[in-house]
Amino acid sequence: MTSPPLIGVLALQGDVREHESALSAVGAEVKRVRSLVDLASVDALVIPGGESTTMSKLALSDGLMEPLREARRSGMPMYGSCAGMIMLADRVTDARPDQETIGGLDITVRRNAFGRQVDSFETDIGIVGVGNDPVHAVFIRAPWVESAGPEVEVLGTIENGDDAGTIVAVRQGLLLATSFHPELTGDHRIHTMFAEIVRRSR
Ligand code: GLN
Repeated sequence: MTSPPLIGVLALQGDVREHESALSAVGAEVKRVRSLVDLASVDALVIPGGESTTMSKLALSDGLMEPLREARRSGMPMYGSCAGMIMLADRVTDARPDQETIGGLDITVRRNAFGRQVDSFETDIGIVGVGNDPVHAVFIRAPWVESAGPEVEVLGTIENGDDAGTIVAVRQGLLLATSFHPELTGDHRIHTMFAEIVRRSR
């Protein structure tokens, strides 16, 4: 029997604890990642929701941005939710001028895309690869995916209302991202999918 994957949660800022609980629930070993040593010890990384501008600033000032990019380039699986999706995007619209990302996902994301009236909302979305039951998706000042390159697999879109068709879940190889926060609902199917990506990558 192989040991469970050790999945790190980038713990600079954001809802770290919620991701730790979800990852533990799906049978992963979990570790907070705050340093180069932490990063070198994990098989994969979750980048939590929070505030991408702050996360970017802290990653730069802690000297972690370039090592994060290097880890991603050398094949570390990564999953980003909300601010984490922004951190994994190659291009960000409405970014702060000094905002940098880890990148790797050939997508353009728009920060705070859903506008003021619907700062936060919840809706059910069918997600490719997690079974037929829709995922209850919680959006909090969420980004959306404005455009995606040919290598990007669209896993989910908003299904109803003015924003129907908007891309909110994507995968590209070992990188996974959602605009919403599956770590907040108790439905662990997205984390299960990520843990499976990690297991297969080993
Ligand atoms: N609006 C935030 C940002 O730009 C993301 C919000 C979230 O992660 N809930 O980083």
